[in-house]
Amino acid sequence: MNPQLSTEARLEAYSMSARDAINQLRSHAVNGIDESRVASLHGRYGANLLTEAKPVAWWIKLLAHFSQWVILILIAAAVIAGTMGEWIDAIAILAIVMLNGTLGFIQEEKAGRALAALRAMSSPMAKVIRGSSVQSIPASELVPGDVLQLEAGDQVPADARLITAFDVEVQESSLTGESMPATKDAEVVLPASTPLGDRRNSVFMGTVLTRGKATVVIYATGMQTELGQIAGMLHQSVSKPTPLQQRLTELGQVLVVVCLFIVVVIFSIQYLRGGGLMETLLVSISLAVAAVPEGLPAVVTIALAIGLQRMARRNALIRTLPSVETLGSVTVICTDKTGTLTRNEMTVRELWVGSGRYRVTGTGYEPQGKFLQESMHSDPDVAHRQAEPTSKEVSGDADKDLLKAITIAATCNNASMSPGKNGEPWQVIGDPTEAALLVMSMKGGIDPDGIRKQIIYEVPFDSERKAMSVVVQGPRGIVMCSKGAPEVILAKCSTELRNGDTREFNSERRQQIQKQNFEMASRALRVLAFAYRDEPEQLDGKYQENGLVFAGLVGMIDPPRDEVGTAVAVCQRAGIRPVMITGDHPATALAIGRELQIATPESSATTGLELDNLTDDQLAEQVEKIAVYARVSAAHKLRVVQSLKKQGQVVAMTGDGVNDAPALKAADIGIAMGITGTDVTKEAADMVLTDDNFASIVLAVEEGRGIFDNIQKFVHYLLSCNAGEVMLMFAAAILGMPVPLLAIQILWINLVTDGLPALALAMEPPERDIMQRQPRPARESVITARRGWRILYHGSLICLCALFGFWWVYADDSGNLAVARSAAFAIMAFSQLAFALVCRSHRYTLPQLGLFSNNWL
Ligand code: ATP
Repeated sequence: MNPQLSTEARLEAYSMSARDAINQLRSHAVNGIDESRVASLHGRYGANLLTEAKPVAWWIKLLAHFSQWVILILIAAAVIAGTMGEWIDAIAILAIVMLNGTLGFIQEEKAGRALAALRAMSSPMAKVIRGSSVQSIPASELVPGDVLQLEAGDQVPADARLITAFDVEVQESSLTGESMPATKDAEVVLPASTPLGDRRNSVFMGTVLTRGKATVVIYATGMQTELGQIAGMLHQSVSKPTPLQQRLTELGQVLVVVCLFIVVVIFSIQYLRGGGLMETLLVSISLAVAAVPEGLPAVVTIALAIGLQRMARRNALIRTLPSVETLGSVTVICTDKTGTLTRNEMTVRELWVGSGRYRVTGTGYEPQGKFLQESMHSDPDVAHRQAEPTSKEVSGDADKDLLKAITIAATCNNASMSPGKNGEPWQVIGDPTEAALLVMSMKGGIDPDGIRKQIIYEVPFDSERKAMSVVVQGPRGIVMCSKGAPEVILAKCSTELRNGDTREFNSERRQQIQKQNFEMASRALRVLAFAYRDEPEQLDGKYQENGLVFAGLVGMIDPPRDEVGTAVAVCQRAGIRPVMITGDHPATALAIGRELQIATPESSATTGLELDNLTDDQLAEQVEKIAVYARVSAAHKLRVVQSLKKQGQVVAMTGDGVNDAPALKAADIGIAMGITGTDVTKEAADMVLTDDNFASIVLAVEEGRGIFDNIQKFVHYLLSCNAGEVMLMFAAAILGMPVPLLAIQILWINLVTDGLPALALAMEPPERDIMQRQPRPARESVITARRGWRILYHGSLICLCALFGFWWVYADDSGNLAVARSAAFAIMAFSQLAFALVCRSHRYTLPQLGLFSNNWL
């Protein structure tokens, strides 16, 4: 940050009108700041970032590696050896200590850098208007004067004055401590003395929009913001050890006690048998140091960090280290449909309005296509009995009903589109559902920009209400345009538009529309209804969504992603049950669910309404069988997660909306969508999918399983090798042989064969049948009893090889202890290195794995 900036006076934008604030900031409410000013503003105010606490100097981190107690003991041993005149021992021990510490430091730095890079990848974006076009840019590039669009679920990226606000509520507890959301109002002008918590016309960095929609102009960024000023509030995220790391630390503590006991026994026996004090002491200390797996937690961290990088390359950003472990135990994946299982590239296929049914041609977001009127009866029952329909091309204004529907589609719409440069596809900013509607109306000849300039009020879309409305000031008065889930919109309608006239609605006609909705949804179409009202009712300054005129249904396709079918099959083989939880219509959900084989042909979808009628016990009985939930809200998601967890399932749950955060938090693995997800869900999640794709979850689970497998492999390796060394020394003592390895030899073996091969084992790619195994029990420890016995068995094999070598040379030529020790040293070192290859898998042989499939090793 530029140091001069913090002294520059902040604009007290709350004590002036929005217009004055915009003028002072030399911006424009609709067009934003001029692109040409961005660079100079950036230079003047710096990046929109909070300066983090000063990083710890590298040399302090390096020194920390030399203050571990095992290292201190070794240094003490070296000093003792030095004072006794054993210079070679002293220098060798110190050299090994240096190497060990430096290696540990380098590894920690690498892991730290990897984690920092991952954090940077998940930095927030902001929707800004610059030079009159809407752009999505990293929040760090915002400057004072930028005009932003904010909606429910967005984190406020800087301090800003509201220009327009529809129904806005902001959670400001991080700044004011007030737990209730604050209501905001763009119109008020406040006295200069107004305290922060009462500044109703402003929003602040670090707070979250929990409701509504706003346009704001930024007046302070980075350290100039209220949050930046309160330095104490910059809580640094402290990384806690993961449960696995904790368990390993505990295991380490047990091992320390066991090893120390054995070492004391070895020391006593060898010393009493007449070994020199210094030599026996050094050997014992070295053995203690070598036997304790003090490097284990570090290697685990590195293994996790490597795993995180691998997952990031496969579009899954992990936000909390423990999730890597939990991923391997997941038994149920609850997933959204739209965008996660499907492509979220919507194309309108059908329009059903009072004057008849229209097919819409064209693909993708290219606004090129035709309307074909089908000579089919508009009653679905009659239409069903008709032969193949014939169709004729019509223009968008062919009749009033069609024109009304496509006008509503363009008006009640926040998406924006721009033609791609150099023949690239059209670019969309906003919700794909709305983009598809925009494209449809453009195919019908509507110019959306003209219409949307007249919007005077908006009731934003929210997935709880499943509807959205805008109010426009047109040449012939004020009109409300609404769209949303058909049953929601129908409930707000009292009349319908049919062949250009407004007609009363009877229950028979409502049923007919519901049937049409069901028929379209059963063909996997996503169906929305349109409605409008001239001169809508106003209550306390808010326009009401009631007494609407029904204006038709629109059906759009959103095909499943190509790779999801395979991913679902992989899941099922891996003992993981995929469950679809969607806000969409049950028929659409089931059609897609069946296509992807999440649901069987016999399955039915459980709706939010049905969930409400189930008691917790009833839900508990059914929850493990239900494959598709439809028309659910965030509260239902939370209930499903809780119920599944009570049944002992390990649940991963996806979410994107502002209200999904509690369900994500409650799940064992909360997964947020990187593209469509709100900042709130990303903040609450353990994992963010950068491509919003279900298949990436499955890949992440595979990586998670692989990482845990690898951790088990190198723990097995390290403990077996250490056990081998201790057993060798112990056996020699019991059998009345001299010490088979000297202090430096033990330390040297420890240095070469411990950390590096263990790290290389962490690089092992996941075994090929890893997704054909059942999930690992969540509470299973790294070292099961069976594995414990195998560690002792492998340790004793290593011990026997070295002991035999030692005995063979020593018995043959008992005078030459040095040669015998060299034999023991060589055998111990090489058998451990060879054993690393064995540890690559206990399911596959080396040729099956491929000798060169892990070049690190
Ligand atoms: P999923 O939960 O799988 O992501 P979804 O996108 O259908 O599915 P929501 O976004 O909660 O879930 O939408 C619920 C319903 O609200 C949709 O089925 C649709 O009928 C309606 N809807 C969706 N987007 C809009 C919108 N932009 N405007 C109005 N209504 C919408």
